[in-house]
Amino acid sequence: MAILCADKKFERFEDVTPKILKTENVKLLLCDLDNTLRLHSEKEPADELADWIADCKSAGVQIVIISNNGRKKMMQKFCEPIDVPCVWWAKKPMSKKLTEAMAEYEISPSETVMLGDKWSTDVLAAKFAGVRAWKVDHRRDVV
Ligand SMILES: [Mg+2]
Repeated sequence: MAILCADKKFERFEDVTPKILKTENVKLLLCDLDNTLRLHSEKEPADELADWIADCKSAGVQIVIISNNGRKKMMQKFCEPIDVPCVWWAKKPMSKKLTEAMAEYEISPSETVMLGDKWSTDVLAAKFAGVRAWKVDHRRDVV
């Protein structure tokens, strides 16, 4: 189904470099959290995530984490050290929270990307919001 086609695919979030964001004219990067920026087992942001967030910010890209995870306190605790706004219980694929983030930062859909690991939530929410969908490989805990 064409509606479920990601516009770009990456292995991991680190592959979405500030250079690519600049080339692609991305001002607002909406990110899924679980299995995209972290594994479920990660209670604190990994160093590579903190570094990546800092690099994106330095490049002038606003990042907002938009998650379907409903654990508000956990999300706030996770996002505080990396200083990134987060939206919990976003109910993707509904696009309301994506649209609200664009309105808050006054950034147009053409300058916005939704980055996530799931077709049925992240990619579809992006399509409903009229923004580009970039997909990363689903990250799993190694047991
Ligand atoms: Mg996910």
